[in-house]
Formats: sequence, structure tokens, C-alpha cells
Amino acid sequence: MPRKFIPVSHPLLAGNEKAYVDECLATSQISSAGRFISAFEKASADFCGVDHAIACSSGTTALHLALLALGIGPGDEVIVPAFTYVASVNAIRYCNAVPVLVDSEPATMTMDPAKIEGRITPRTKAIMAVHLYGQPVDMDPVIAIARRHGLFVIEDAAEAFGASYKGRKAGSLGDVATFSFFGNKIITTGEGGMLTTRDPRLAAQIRLLRGQGMDPDRRYWFPMVGYNYRMTNIQAAIGLAQLECIDVHLESRRRVAGWYHRHLQDARNVFALPEERPWARHSFWMYTVVLKPEAGCERDTMMRQLAEAGIETRPAFYPMHVMPVYSEPLGSYPVAEYLGANGINLPTHALLTEDDVLYIAGHIRATRAAMTA
Ligand SMILES: *Cc1c(COP(=O)(O)O)cnc(C)c1O
Repeated sequence: MPRKFIPVSHPLLAGNEKAYVDECLATSQISSAGRFISAFEKASADFCGVDHAIACSSGTTALHLALLALGIGPGDEVIVPAFTYVASVNAIRYCNAVPVLVDSEPATMTMDPAKIEGRITPRTKAIMAVHLYGQPVDMDPVIAIARRHGLFVIEDAAEAFGASYKGRKAGSLGDVATFSFFGNKIITTGEGGMLTTRDPRLAAQIRLLRGQGMDPDRRYWFPMVGYNYRMTNIQAAIGLAQLECIDVHLESRRRVAGWYHRHLQDARNVFALPEERPWARHSFWMYTVVLKPEAGCERDTMMRQLAEAGIETRPAFYPMHVMPVYSEPLGSYPVAEYLGANGINLPTHALLTEDDVLYIAGHIRATRAAMTA
């Protein structure tokens, strides 16, 4: 019998969420018109330090819109880490473009800039940098490579709202960036997404594509094939309330990460703990530890034992090239494979207490002791 249940993630809805949703209901503005959409877009642009933010229906549709707006189409290649969430590569495939995988760095779990140039071909159009688990990619070398080869840079910042790189926010570092507001992300709208960019023409193109491609000056005239990827006013109402409390969201995650860091110090022979580079501010979407093979524990067994103590965890993502739909018979991404096989996402959310973290750390120690006895 578990003494308690600690979920791996949990939204914090402690601000104006209810008041703003009530306003949507009271004004009947429950669909994709209403004041919250533009307010949430404006607040997101200001927060990220860019001129334009465009809300949409999910992080996945945000990625699709970003690629479409950049003109990425059939046969084009986009360089993307093998170790990512499937939405990054799915969106590339929606455009009939080709995801070209690169391996990651073991310490940051993000794409390894040194591996990018070897993957560039005459068909390469863009590099998609994924700030995985909230850790920003080392962007300066990525941007330098992109400039040298005339490539676009897309940030998949779905997990990194509020993270920063050399003092600049995730979402302001490339040509266009995307965020997700799924229920377990840094801030949530239930389902939802956002794009950010400094480029007014790109922003206009994204808005067009988001709303069926309708000519902004001529109703029901559609000069292109567009999509309905709009966000509702209700979602934006929740998002704006979340963003008003962004410091609480980020600081509570940072506090949890600090507790893990302290209480897992004596387990450093078992796990690699997340590292924050001097130039990075991690958003700690997921506090991810990587089980060391020499520790003599099996990852899935450890996760099962933790589940028996009421501690929900998640395995790290499988690398993309092991999925049948993205399989690369000759692809070899050893770091991605290592991280995918040994990574564990520990509970990371605002409602955790230090006692919860002590409980988790204690069970990790006990599980490890039992497994290696
Ligand atoms: C969550 C996530 C997405 C997709 O966002 P949805 O809102 O679920 O569509 C894309 N990329 C990464 C890295 C994610 O974690």
C-alpha cells in the first residue's frame, strides 16, 4: 500500500485563472475572439523580449506553423536532435520535409553543436534546436553554423518557457520559436501553443496560416491552403493568468531542483544529476537524472519500485531513430540511446515540498541498496 502518491507533474492554478475563465463565460467569448488572446500574445512577446507572439492550438501546431511560415516543404531537410519528443520530428514530416537527426551532449542532453555540420547537405533548410527538459541549447555555435550555411534556426522551446541563454530568453534566440502549454508544461492552457519571432513578415505569415489562410483584407478569400490552429479565448484566459504568476512557476521549480540537488548528492555514484551551464538558466521542466551503468541498477526496475512507494516517474524519451516510423538502419546516436535508456524524470512541479523530495531521495537510496545487495 503506497503511503502517498506523488505525481510526476501537476499544474499550479493559483492566480486569476478562474476569474478570467468566468469572464469568458459571462461575455460568451468562449471561442477564438476575445480580449485574452491578444493580451496573452502581448504578454508572451514582452516576456520573451520579442516583438511578435502568435497563440495557437498546441506546441505541435506551433512547430508546424513555424516550418510552413519558413517555407519548408517536400524534400527539404531539417536538422533536429535524435533525443527529443516526437512532436519535433512529426511537425517536420507534416511538411513532407525530412528530419535529419544529430546526437546530443551527455551533460546537457541537448543537441551537440559539434555534430551539426557533418549533417548539412544542399537540401538543408533549417536547424531545430530543442531546449530539452528546460535546458537551453548552446545557441551561439548553432547560430554561427546556421549563418555560415544560410539556414533558419527554429527553437522548440516547448519545455523551456522562462529558460534563458546568456541572459536572453528562450524564444528570442533564433528566427522563430515555439512553446507548448500542455497540462504538464511550465505554464499551461490545458492544450495550447505559442510562436515568437522578431520578424514581422514571418509573424504575419503565421497568423495567415493559423486562420485558414484567409486574406486579411478580403473575407472568405483564401489565397493559400491554411489551417485552423487557433487558440480559444478560454485557453488564453488561463494562459494569461498563468503568465501573471510566471515568477512563482519558475521559482518553485528551481526550488525543487535545488532540493533534489542537495538530497541526491550522495547518489552521484548512481546518477548523473542535471547540470546548469554558466551561461544557462534552466527552467527545470523535468528534473532528469541519468542512471550510471556502473551503479548496477536496472532503470525500469527502479522506476517500478518507486511506483510501489507512490512515486510516479517517467522514462526519458526514446531516441527518434528507434521508432519504426523514423527508423534509420544506419543511424547511430550513442548519446541519445544512452540517455533514452537510462534517464528518469523525477517529479517536478510547484506543489512538491522538501519532505516529498526527501521521501523520494530516501526511496531511491533504498531501491538502489536492495537492487545491488
Ligand atoms: C510538449 C512538447 C511538444 C508538443 O507540444 P504539444 O502542446 O503537446 O503539442 C513539442 N516539443 C517538445 C520538446 C515538447 O516537450
